[in-house]
Amino acid sequence: MTLHARNFIAGEWVASSDLAPDVNPSNTAEIVGHFPRATKAEAEKAIAAAKAAFPGWSRSTLQERHDVLKRISDEILARKEELGAILSREEGKTLPEGIGEVARAGQIFGFFAGEALRLAGEIIGSVRPGVGVEVTREGIGVVGLITPWNFPAAIPAWKIAPALCYGNTVVLKPADLVPATAHALGEIIARSGLPAGVFNLVMGRGSVVGEALLSSPDVDAISFTGSVGTGRKIAATCVASSPMKKVQLEMGGKNPFVVLDDADVKVAVEAAVNGAFFSTGQRCTASSRLIVTDGIHDAFVAALVERLKGVTVDDAMKAGTHIGPVVDQSQLDQDLNYIKIGKDEGAKLAFGGDLVKREAPGFYLTPALFTGASNDMRIAREEIFGPVAAVVRVKDYDEALAAANDTEFGLSAGIATTSLKYATHFKRNVQAGMVMVNLPTAGVDYHVPFGGRKGSSYGPREQGRYAAEFYTTVKTSYTLA
Ligand code: NAD
Repeated sequence: MTLHARNFIAGEWVASSDLAPDVNPSNTAEIVGHFPRATKAEAEKAIAAAKAAFPGWSRSTLQERHDVLKRISDEILARKEELGAILSREEGKTLPEGIGEVARAGQIFGFFAGEALRLAGEIIGSVRPGVGVEVTREGIGVVGLITPWNFPAAIPAWKIAPALCYGNTVVLKPADLVPATAHALGEIIARSGLPAGVFNLVMGRGSVVGEALLSSPDVDAISFTGSVGTGRKIAATCVASSPMKKVQLEMGGKNPFVVLDDADVKVAVEAAVNGAFFSTGQRCTASSRLIVTDGIHDAFVAALVERLKGVTVDDAMKAGTHIGPVVDQSQLDQDLNYIKIGKDEGAKLAFGGDLVKREAPGFYLTPALFTGASNDMRIAREEIFGPVAAVVRVKDYDEALAAANDTEFGLSAGIATTSLKYATHFKRNVQAGMVMVNLPTAGVDYHVPFGGRKGSSYGPREQGRYAAEFYTTVKTSYTLA
């Protein structure tokens, strides 16, 4: 039986008159379910419910917050296989990747269950006699969470968990391509013991539900993850609105992975294959630029091509699949267009980039590796967001670092080297929010800050203790004793 999902508004599951099909990219003949395309009025109801619930939830005890977050974490972790399968069916990442992502979402809720008990302020001496100063943190109010399709469980989790932990109320608008995971997550949160209105799930279009969140004076803050174009518009709207909204943006990347002459080729190749192509390259932290020094270039490229020959592109749910399909036709068109652009620019397609047929109709593309690219080509400058990577050959470490930093983005950067000197210099000098030594640029821990600089991020970091910077506002109180 096909699921006909509903939105969760003011503590009730509300049916929608407009439903859209959620298609499995591994088998486009299969519909995962039908999911609401909410109206502006429905989004406004959710915002009103979140506003009404804020005074109560912001004064909830730390124990209540801990217990709710812990219950959510426990259920997600207990059902990670089932939820991972839903995720893989609608997004197309492989089943182990889907289960891994769901587990991470559960761990994030567990982390913030602990953080709820560690809320602390500061007592600071005053410069005036007899005066005491306290610095405390409070929830901001109603937060609108707008999330992308590529991490349907982890990204909503790393926004919802800190929002609730610090006493905010939430309206989640998940990406329209992946509503089933959001719906499953919503069901777990709905039965966690939260008062009505504290958490609301409104599925639908960015242009309707997203815009309703942006245009409402009752939304106090927006946390957005998605593309640079949408992010810019959202930031401009938040600043222009009255009252102004606090805003946090996590956006694109063009992440460099540098391979130096002294690298262990095996380590470098594994990190490159994982970082560039796993999760179908559809990660903001994907290594789409492989910057390789002269001395190791030919050996690295040869080993990488050999390794790619052993990679299986197939149905996300099938055992043995290493790379699932591209998420939808429009992303596939974008990937193919960039493969054409790369060829036209004069780079050499050294491997893959072919559409392939599998048992069921799906968006199957083999990993595409360009060599002979230069850092000024479009394939080395623009985010493609698919299984496409370009090797840029450089003379030495200095040239590699300069190329790594020559980008409008600054999310993640990696280096393969056995030299402590270069690893240390790279960590200090690469312009990125996250740096990986002998590890893929993608794949991070859940308890430490996540985010970038330059065109990749705007506003405070997400995750770990640093999440408090966005999800709280600071109050400084003075008392004359
Ligand atoms: P997108 O910008 O198209 O959409 C993101 C979200 O914004 C969706 O929920 C969408 O419905 C909504 N939206 C679209 N238009 C809107 C509008 N006018 N007003 C309000 N909301 C609107 O991005 P996407 O295609 O879903 O995701 C891919 C992008 O996300 C890539 O650029 C990727 O790099 C980025 N991403 C970044 C991170 C990070 O943490 N830096 C993580 C994952 C993905």
